[in-house]
Amino acid sequence: MFPYGVTQHFESLAGDGQNDPIKRQFLPDAREDLPDPFALDDPLGEGRHRAAPRLVHQYRDRALLLAGGACAAYCRYCFRRVWLASSPGFIGGGELEESLAYLAAHPEIREILVSGGDPLTADNARLEELFCLLRQARPGLLLRVCSRMPVTSPSRLSGETLSLFRRFRPLRLSIHINHPRELAPLTRERLAAAVDGGIPVHTQTVLLRGVNDDAALLADLFRECLNAGLTPYYLFQADLAPGTAHFRVPLKRGLEIYGELSALVSGLALPAYALDLPGGGGKIRLCEGIIAGEKMTPAGLVYLLRDNNGKLWEYPY
Ligand SMILES: *Cc1c(COP(=O)(O)O)cnc(C)c1O
Ligand code: SF4
Repeated sequence: MFPYGVTQHFESLAGDGQNDPIKRQFLPDAREDLPDPFALDDPLGEGRHRAAPRLVHQYRDRALLLAGGACAAYCRYCFRRVWLASSPGFIGGGELEESLAYLAAHPEIREILVSGGDPLTADNARLEELFCLLRQARPGLLLRVCSRMPVTSPSRLSGETLSLFRRFRPLRLSIHINHPRELAPLTRERLAAAVDGGIPVHTQTVLLRGVNDDAALLADLFRECLNAGLTPYYLFQADLAPGTAHFRVPLKRGLEIYGELSALVSGLALPAYALDLPGGGGKIRLCEGIIAGEKMTPAGLVYLLRDNNGKLWEYPY
């Protein structure tokens, strides 16, 4: 079972009714128990690219560390929900040593995504220790800290946290944000402090049915982000995690929304629409013409998507 959890701050952003777009993101829903023939426990196929128990090395020059083992609030559509449900805890001990040894032995890796779970669920002393060890293993390594806490618990981005980040530059913050209402006054204030302090901030958004599957709403979100000094980076098509099918926007509808969005915002405010190909194919940009065909499979009808190597991958219709 996937844990339930929400912060007071995030809950305070919710409006009335079960269908409120903020509530939908954290309130458990009976549809999570519906069978889904397309569901994958490891939707991104990270197991295929595991270099160490908590290190994923899929792209040559960057790797992803599953550092945080918990989140401040749990997103019902989480793509790592099976891994997180096992309560992995913050990385340490032998798991960390194996990751550090791999990084030290692979100089082609120039950037590390510090992800999870949410790494900011650990206190600053632990983060500092982790950053120190990563830089010892690989001096000059770019740190990309991936967190939802600037949205769910903005006070976590305290002055002390930002000065820690500053000491470890080059460091970039990648935040997960889905709805304009998530840019609450304290979130704006703390992110402005990050940007003013020399910490560039990028955004990632998941396209979610009943939450943000609307071009005008996304245009608002990305314009507001841009004006707040944040760089809209990715808009993700939902992954095939178990119990999340009701959040999935049909791919053709997603392409339509993205087309409309492109006409509404400045190029500076337009994130890349992307999908992590189910089963370990990596990220591809979704655009008109990406659908190479359709096919009937035992799980149901799928689209065929062609990656950069010409290989075909399947995604539910
Ligand atoms: C998304 C991801 C990255 C980063 O990819 P970018 O396109 O640079 O944002 C790196 N490693 C893994 C395993 C990823 O899933
Ligand atoms: S913050 Fe990220 S890892 Fe945590 S529950 Fe949400 S999507 Fe999953």
